[in-house]
Amino acid sequence: MAGILFIISAPSGSGKSTLVSEVRRLVPGLDFSISYTTRKPRGSEEDGREYHFTTREEFERMIAANEFLEWAEVFGNYYGTALSALDLAAEHGTDLLLDIDVQGALQVMQTMPDAVSIFILPPSPEVLERRLRNRSQAEGLANEAVIATRLSEARTELQKIEDYRYALVNDVLDEAASEMRAIVLVARGDATPAEGDLAAQCVTGARSPRLESALQSFGVTVAGV
Ligand code: ADP
Ligand code: 5GP
Repeated sequence: MAGILFIISAPSGSGKSTLVSEVRRLVPGLDFSISYTTRKPRGSEEDGREYHFTTREEFERMIAANEFLEWAEVFGNYYGTALSALDLAAEHGTDLLLDIDVQGALQVMQTMPDAVSIFILPPSPEVLERRLRNRSQAEGLANEAVIATRLSEARTELQKIEDYRYALVNDVLDEAASEMRAIVLVARGDATPAEGDLAAQCVTGARSPRLESALQSFGVTVAGV
């Protein structure tokens, strides 16, 4: 039987990859869908581990052959989730995490309405800038233009937060990981009452004070959240 699909989106540099690794360490039975991308590997990334790195020609062939659940062009490169990732998770009997941008997330929400969507946001633009800068320095490529683009893109992506069932502010890593773990357990029907409460505080419509404060710091006002 197909497991639960979790859609995770976040502005680049919010700490989504860090958080997803931590949650996978805490919760068994969570597969991670390895996306296809035409961007070049970064730092220590390896083909088949973080991404399947491919060419534009091959990616376009896969689009034409309907091999993607969703795909999008992000920062000038193609990114996509292969349908085969769903088959693999079903074969393993696991739930599946999709780390995808907001364009791809909206496609999956339409085609898989039972998917559980989670938006991760940094506590403020200052923190996001620091994380982007630290990461590019660690990789030996402090690229100011890339940092500026990603900061402005973050504001645009945040406008879509109301489409996600949950919103997680990644301030203290351990706390955000506990919240995401609680969301997974609730979706599985395995949560304790305390875990249920924790997940409920992360429902986007509940507008927690932390969420309000993060949105305000980005100057984002979202109607209906
Ligand atoms: P993303 O996958 O969202 O692009 P990363 O997981 O690569 O982001 O994280 C960006 C940077 O921020 C990394 O250097 C990571 O170590 C750091 N980071 C992630 N989460 C936290 C956190 N809660 N507190 C401090 N630093 C964090
Ligand atoms: P990065 O290049 O920083 O790894 O990722 C850039 C953006 O592409 C992130 O917002 C990430 O979530 C998104 N992304 C990664 N894989 C996919 C995918 O398969 N589909 C879509 N739509 N976006 C993806």
